[in-house]
Amino acid sequence: MHNGIGCRACGGQDVRQRYRVKGYDLVICRRCRSLTTAYSMSETKAAAFYDYSYFHGGDYQDYEASEPYMRRNFERLVVRLKALYSGTRLFEMGCAYGYFLDVAQRYWEVAGMDISPAAVAVARERYGDTVRHGNFLKVPLAEGQYDWVVGWDMIEHVEAPRAYVAMAAQLLQPGGHLALTTGDVGSGAARLLGRRWRLLTPPSHLTYFSRQGMDLMLRDAGLSDVGFSTVGYERSLDFVAFRLLGEKRYDRYVKRHLRLRARLRAISFYVDLGDIMFVTATKSQASPELSVRRSGS
Ligand SMILES: [Zn+2]
Repeated sequence: MHNGIGCRACGGQDVRQRYRVKGYDLVICRRCRSLTTAYSMSETKAAAFYDYSYFHGGDYQDYEASEPYMRRNFERLVVRLKALYSGTRLFEMGCAYGYFLDVAQRYWEVAGMDISPAAVAVARERYGDTVRHGNFLKVPLAEGQYDWVVGWDMIEHVEAPRAYVAMAAQLLQPGGHLALTTGDVGSGAARLLGRRWRLLTPPSHLTYFSRQGMDLMLRDAGLSDVGFSTVGYERSLDFVAFRLLGEKRYDRYVKRHLRLRARLRAISFYVDLGDIMFVTATKSQASPELSVRRSGS
């Protein structure tokens, strides 16, 4: 244990100090090798943290301006989901501005939720009350209703990912699927770069999952058939400049030069560095009586 925080991925308590990044301690789990930011993000802190400025200069350089690229990324995810399983109803955890829901609503009946009041306000203007504001763990949702529960690059942000996945499993109907994307701390890029890996961004990222940690978390939630692959993203050159230069230098050399910025925005490319995992898992088809018998044996 490190300041009372164990491994957010597998729930293990045997952790030790690994890195110090931006003043935050990151601890590594001896069991599953996932990293945990030794910092508690309360609901109040989260709602304040994920305000307008988070989506405009925080982890995202300009979330709304990136919409065309994000939509194409989401189209790619839809293709992958459809190839695996169809179903009729889909729920998105951490839907932000609702771009994925907009793409997905061509194939599923969709609903979503986000902790950010700023993002939900925009999403609701466009997609109405299918998008709800609040804490996924607290707002009552109909259980056993969904064929898909998905969360794109959000599980690393939440204080209690194991509780999120357990809740997602409850929302799924038997045979339903969960899909997540998140950084893979065991990937070649992450191991090569160590504390300089681009996704080590506390306090917005609280858990850096290994595949083993992810697998343990999903199985503990009663999900099975856990499958891993990687996913890339289409990025504009403008976004890449922001990431490479850092916010201050980007503001100085790019942001104020509108023509340069427009040019950089017009160029985009798809990159898969292999350090983001795409993971799916299934809720068992077993009848309730069977699971009671199993847990009793
Ligand atoms: Zn662990």
